[in-house]
Amino acid sequence: MEQDEYIPLSALEHWSYCPRQCCLIHAEQAFAENIHTLRGQAVHARTDVPGVEGGYDGRRIARAVPLWSDGLGLVGKSDVVEFLPDGTPYPVEYKHGKKREKRHDDIQLAAQAICLEEMTGKAVPHGAIYHASSRRRREVAITVELREAVATCVAEVRAALREWALPPPLNDRRCRECSLIELCQPAVLAEREKRRLLAGSLFDPKAGI
Ligand code: SF4
Repeated sequence: MEQDEYIPLSALEHWSYCPRQCCLIHAEQAFAENIHTLRGQAVHARTDVPGVEGGYDGRRIARAVPLWSDGLGLVGKSDVVEFLPDGTPYPVEYKHGKKREKRHDDIQLAAQAICLEEMTGKAVPHGAIYHASSRRRREVAITVELREAVATCVAEVRAALREWALPPPLNDRRCRECSLIELCQPAVLAEREKRRLLAGSLFDPKAGI
């Protein structure tokens, strides 16, 4: 695989949250801040600084660990990797907000686990999401189903970035938390699409108007 075909790990999270968001960020280099991105930066202030230290139960804790997978063509970094006494890596992804299951977080974590397996040769059966607001961890099993979801996601992102086609907006509750809402204008575009469909069916007797 060519170097420029490697996909950032963060693109998988963005794609599973909203394909349009992924393409705006990773194809069009769109960027905007909102309260959620600023909170995310605050949470990552410590994990962005590389370092290794001793932890609980004999674990070695490494921050800002570079990750890659030649098999899937992924590159990125992990917030924290805890190495158990037998050397098994245990990735921990930091998120702002309360403890809550989110599919896109789990896919990002599973992709990190797959990278660590390829890099170390050790099985990575579990990882965790650390929810900063509630200061609680949610352990995630890296299941076969989650691994398949990662592979599907990688294929979809690679195809979308190659085609350079912007997916349609979601225009649902996810948009309220998205920092790109002003750039994306999901409500305006959804209204325009509705009008286009209505105009197309105006003289169609089968449309029942
Ligand atoms: S505003 Fe909505 S549709 Fe647009 S990128 Fe964000 S989540 Fe996706």
